[in-house]
Amino acid sequence: MQVPLLDLRAQYASFKDEVLPVIAEICDAQQFILGAKVEAFEKELADYCRCRRTIGVTSGSDALLVALMAENIGPGDEVVTTPFTFFATVGAIVRVGATPVFADIDPVTFNIDPAAVESKITPKTRAIIPVHLFGQSADMDPIMKIAEKHHLVVIEDACQAIGAEYRGRRVGSIGDYGAFSFFPSKNLGCFGDGGAVSCNDEAKADKIKIFRNHGQSKTYYHEYVGGNFRLDALQAAVLSIKLRRLDAWSEARRSNAADYEKLFAAAGLLDGRITLPARAAYPVRHIYNQYCIRVADGRRDALRDYLHAHGVGCAIYYPLSLHLQPCFAALGGKKGDCPQSEKATAEVLALPVYGECSAEQRRFVVETIAAFYRGE
Ligand SMILES: *Cc1c(COP(=O)(O)O)cnc(C)c1O
Repeated sequence: MQVPLLDLRAQYASFKDEVLPVIAEICDAQQFILGAKVEAFEKELADYCRCRRTIGVTSGSDALLVALMAENIGPGDEVVTTPFTFFATVGAIVRVGATPVFADIDPVTFNIDPAAVESKITPKTRAIIPVHLFGQSADMDPIMKIAEKHHLVVIEDACQAIGAEYRGRRVGSIGDYGAFSFFPSKNLGCFGDGGAVSCNDEAKADKIKIFRNHGQSKTYYHEYVGGNFRLDALQAAVLSIKLRRLDAWSEARRSNAADYEKLFAAAGLLDGRITLPARAAYPVRHIYNQYCIRVADGRRDALRDYLHAHGVGCAIYYPLSLHLQPCFAALGGKKGDCPQSEKATAEVLALPVYGECSAEQRRFVVETIAAFYRGE
């Protein structure tokens, strides 16, 4: 048996008949840049995220970047964020010329620890970027309290967490902005790159819209230096069709995650060797963009190699904490600065959790892990 980490072909087959005529319609009209399809998707996405506005952009990376640009965050400013995330979170901060400041993570949720955030606030801090990693919300209430107290902007990196909830609120509707990615491997993926910024403040949303299109308030009159961060009509049309199915797909992932809990327990692997992704102590809806287990006793890489050799897809998100990345060496990060993040990079392993992964395939994943520990 083969179990890939992710296989989008079955998902595509389920809406192919609906999407292809819409793509043909856009091609016939030759109207690709912004327009009605993008506007329609932006409204649907805002409804889905239960926030006032969303603005479609080129990618999740650019969603983070454009929010920082619109807030005029740059040289001399500090932005507190997590070292245990995809590179883009921190790349955006450095690209605007600001300084990322790393606050360590909570080992249970892998998300930024609010107490660590508080300890990193200085007079130079302008913003906090919490990341809802793997599809589970960061602990937003204490983060929003810190932000209020110090007048900081909060940009939620919700790139892995569309539809996830924190105390009944959808992620991206809690901070000043939310950043979403429609990279194909995310729970809502388009047919290429895409992203969105969410926002509850009309004036801020209007400004993001201006920044998305070279800072033009009207054609060829540039109020700011923005960029080309436009979502295109083809991607928006695909996303509108997929958005209607997103909850069913995320529910399938949640159900697969619940099934893994039973399978791992039945296999006797939860005796300290394997730790499953834990639900936060606060009420959440986890959408399992990734199902990341922890592997103890320094055996993670050996298990990864064994799974690959036996036809089970798996991956390490992420193998090197961002404060230790060579490109950020000038920031002076050292081993030991963020011990929980560093420990996570040595232990995590993502297993297949996509909706179409069958019961048989999930059983095979857990049986293969059990065989590894039996030394077979
Ligand atoms: C995917 C991702 C991004 C970047 O999104 P792109 O659309 O690939 O640019 C940013 N942050 C996190 C946490 C992500 O997972």
